[in-house]
Amino acid sequence: MTTPSVATDPACLFCRIVAGEIPAAFVHEDDLVVAFPDIAPRAPTHILVIPRQHIVSAAALTDADSSTVGRLFAVAAQVAREAGIADAGYRLVTNVGRAAGQTVDHLHIHLMGGRSMTWPPG
Ligand code: 5GP
Ligand code: ZN
Repeated sequence: MTTPSVATDPACLFCRIVAGEIPAAFVHEDDLVVAFPDIAPRAPTHILVIPRQHIVSAAALTDADSSTVGRLFAVAAQVAREAGIADAGYRLVTNVGRAAGQTVDHLHIHLMGGRSMTWPPG
C-alpha cells in the first residue's frame, strides 16, 4: 500500500514516531492511522491511536478529516478486540488543550482497558 503524503511537523513528537525517527512498537499501521503503546501506561492496556497527519487536536478537525476520524475509531475498536479487552469494555479518551491534560499537540485517542474505569474522569 502506498502512503499518501500528509502534513507533518518536524518538531512534533508523534510526527517523528510516524516517520520512524523515534521508535515505537506499532500494533497497527495503515495509510491514515498508526497505533502504538503509551510509554507511560495508566492501564494494563494503554494504546495511542493517532493520524499520520499532523492535526493538533480534535478542536482542529474539519469535515475534510471525516475519513481519518472514522478510521481512528474503527482502528481503536479493532485494536481493543485484538488486545482482548473488547468484551469487558474500555475507555477511549482524547484530551483537548492544557486544562484537559493534553501534553502532545498531535491528535491521539487513548485506548485504555484491562481494569475498571471510574466516572467521571479526574
Ligand atoms: P496527552 O497527555 O497529550 O493526552 O497524551 C500524550 C501521551 O503520550 C501520554 O500518555 C504520554 O505518556 C505519551 N507519550 C509521551 N511521549 C511518548 C513517547 O515518546 N512514546 C510513546 N509511546 N508515548 C509517549
Ligand atoms: Zn504531529
